[in-house]
Amino acid sequence: MAKTALITGITGQDGAYLAQLLLSKNYSVHGLLRRSASADVIGARLNFLGILGDVEMHDANLTDITSIIRVIQTVKPDEIYNLGAQSFVKTSWQQPVLTGSVSGLGAVNVLEAIRLLSPQTRFYQASTSEMYGLIQEPRQSETTPFYPRSPYAAAKLYAHWMTVNYRESFGLHASSGILFNHESPLRGIEFVTRKITDGVARIKLGLADHISLGNLDAKRDWGHARDYVEAMWLMLQQDTPDDYVVATGRTTSVRDFCDLAFAHVGLKAADHVRVDERFMRPAEVDVLLGNPDKAKAKLGWQATTTLEQLVAEMVEADLKRLSR
Ligand code: NDP
Ligand code: GDP
Repeated sequence: MAKTALITGITGQDGAYLAQLLLSKNYSVHGLLRRSASADVIGARLNFLGILGDVEMHDANLTDITSIIRVIQTVKPDEIYNLGAQSFVKTSWQQPVLTGSVSGLGAVNVLEAIRLLSPQTRFYQASTSEMYGLIQEPRQSETTPFYPRSPYAAAKLYAHWMTVNYRESFGLHASSGILFNHESPLRGIEFVTRKITDGVARIKLGLADHISLGNLDAKRDWGHARDYVEAMWLMLQQDTPDDYVVATGRTTSVRDFCDLAFAHVGLKAADHVRVDERFMRPAEVDVLLGNPDKAKAKLGWQATTTLEQLVAEMVEADLKRLSR
């Protein structure tokens, strides 16, 4: 029988790709939709993938457990993917309390609603490599100690441990994916990769002449969101719930990402990138590098998109969007 999935954060980057994946597997796909005064832009990512009409939306908010209870009672999901979050690290210093309630307590609202109403529902928590923060090992795996460096990372670490705790305390099928940065043409424009590819496209089309960035030396393990949502789904198909690092195993600096993106359109990053203190952070995560061996061994998952392919796809998508 076809399964039913509920995705919180369905209007975000990962939610859109995950909805596409689950629809291709014949799932009935439902999503939480938080009311916005700008309702016309909410479905943009699902629309980009041509699936806006194929998913069912439910008016709810992660900070309101009553709304989550009502949606679970209506949808009766086999699987819940908790992707909803205040997901931008820099904003988490400006809105630490909101970040804690959405990205931390929001996950507990979902776990608690599952425990009370539907303990057989399988649960996926969107954990993050930001939890490693000030890294304690050069390659981070499931056993590397955490050291969060932002209100975002601290909130996510709370949600991560609550997922582990509900699994151990109540026997829920609850798994966390510790995902390293993943990008796509649907990445929010404020994140560095998309800011760069959008800027490159603007400069190439004569709409701008430079990009202002912060720390060019920061290094991230960047993969493609389309590959990573596959790992989320695989985690919930296992007999036993568990936590997995999802990463490419390659790390690249912001500076080198710029070089790749500008080279794609025949330009030099050094001619167009300016450093602006406003984009520096109160505490930085200097470098992240994931060890995805467990995901490969147990889930049979590995990243298939190279960084070069990712950069090319993002720059081309921004060129197309801005040329319209
Ligand atoms: P996005 O920022 O693109 O999407 C976040 C989603 O959360 C949006 O759908 C947003 O809705 C929703 N949301 C925000 N606040 C609430 C709320 N109060 N109630 C209900 N929904 C809410 O994130 P990504 O798709 O990139 O990431 C998905 C998840 O994975 C997030 O939890 C993120 O923190 C985590 N993660 C992401 C990584 C990455 O590199 N992308 C790496 C590791 C973890 P709206 O459209 O209304 O704003
Ligand atoms: P994060 O890893 O979730 O914080 O993802 P981001 O894409 O926001 O940032 C990745 C890295 O790029 C961080 O180390 C930032 O400090 C660095 N960075 C450098 N310049 C910028 C910028 O202009 N915007 C953003 N968002 N990050 C920048």
